[in-house]
Amino acid sequence: MVKGKLFVLSGPSGTGKGTICREVLSRNNGIRLSISMTTRTPREGEIHGEHYFFAEREEFISLINEDGFIEYADVYGNFYGTPKKQVEEWLDRGQDVLLEIDVQGAIQVKKNYPDSILLFVLPPSIEVLRERLTGRGTDAADVIERRMASATSEIGLIGEYDYSIVNDVLAEAVESVEAIIKGEHMRLTRETSEAIVRRYKQEV
Ligand code: 5GP
Repeated sequence: MVKGKLFVLSGPSGTGKGTICREVLSRNNGIRLSISMTTRTPREGEIHGEHYFFAEREEFISLINEDGFIEYADVYGNFYGTPKKQVEEWLDRGQDVLLEIDVQGAIQVKKNYPDSILLFVLPPSIEVLRERLTGRGTDAADVIERRMASATSEIGLIGEYDYSIVNDVLAEAVESVEAIIKGEHMRLTRETSEAIVRRYKQEV
């Protein structure tokens, strides 16, 4: 059986990557979303097992020691990681998997899974990103400055990615992600081209 594909979506805070992910998943294209584990405290309305698996640091560290993560990172002082077991089961069953993780994590995934496909979501401009972060009205000025600084250093790593998507009009950004998924399924690998040759030889 041909394995599923591992898609990784990241981008600075305020680019709308979470919304893009939700839209892509709601279109029922068979892609599965990996639920991350984190040591941060749940925000209001967040559900264990749906938004994250919330864990104590000790639990997280023991899973690191068991080699239970595809990747993990320290983001703003909390651990976040992608549990390995579920993702590998899906991929082995031929199902595509989507990870929404930060840039450090995405680069680790690419090292461990060279066939993974990395997508970077960009704001239309740095000014628009600042407006979006300010417009949320939830963060203090120093938090916004910290997020802006992180955004520019994250964008500096875009060369490690395979695709960039500018999130100006949401529907268009979602279409772009879907087009990438579709295109990646048409990309020939040694495995898929050999399977095609076998199939067509039998059919002649
Ligand atoms: P938040 O605390 O706002 O939910 O997420 C903070 C950051 O952590 C976001 O950039 C998010 O993409 C990232 N993140 C969420 N899950 C993971 C994960 O499993 N691994 C890594 N490396 N980053 C993650």
